Amino acid sequence: MRRAVCPGSFDPITNGHLDIIERASGFFDEIIVAVGINQSKNRLFEPAERVEMIQEAVASLGNIKVDTFQGLIVEFCKAHQVQAIVKGLRAVSDFDYELQMAHMNRSLAGVDTLFMPAAPHYSFLSSSLVKEVATYGGDVSGLVPESVLRRLQERLSG
Ligand code: ADP
Repeated sequence: MRRAVCPGSFDPITNGHLDIIERASGFFDEIIVAVGINQSKNRLFEPAERVEMIQEAVASLGNIKVDTFQGLIVEFCKAHQVQAIVKGLRAVSDFDYELQMAHMNRSLAGVDTLFMPAAPHYSFLSSSLVKEVATYGGDVSGLVPESVLRRLQERLSG
């Protein structure tokens, strides 16, 4: 089975992430969306909430699983028989770091990384910007899935 992972923090998932996941799902038998649960980072949503929001957003796609990971993504790849890591690239600024990571992951475990260009209309989009705009009452509908919009409103109004 050809299986790839789309790793990230997804705090929360955006339509930019979703676009990459959907497009990647056409090339593989199965995509695992792996939510990094690094303790040291300041997050708006708990890992379980991030997983739920992704599950709701990908419910209509047949070959996507959602899971969490801690530590090295290559260890997750080994444990789940994943052959490739899929990453979205928004701009040249993403590329520098992503290329370094890709080389490191290949040298650590022989796992290759495939890069997909972000959809132009989502290339400015990041989870952190969505949170910032939503915090100040900006309209982020159209940038995140419905389930995320609902939870952002709940979280930020409470
Ligand atoms: P962020 O970079 O927004 O904090 P993540 O760490 O969850 O988000 O990102 C996981 C992956 O998704 C990274 O490879 C990142 O480049 C990619 N990604 C993030 N936002 C977008 C977008 N708008 N379009 C395409 N890919 C994206």
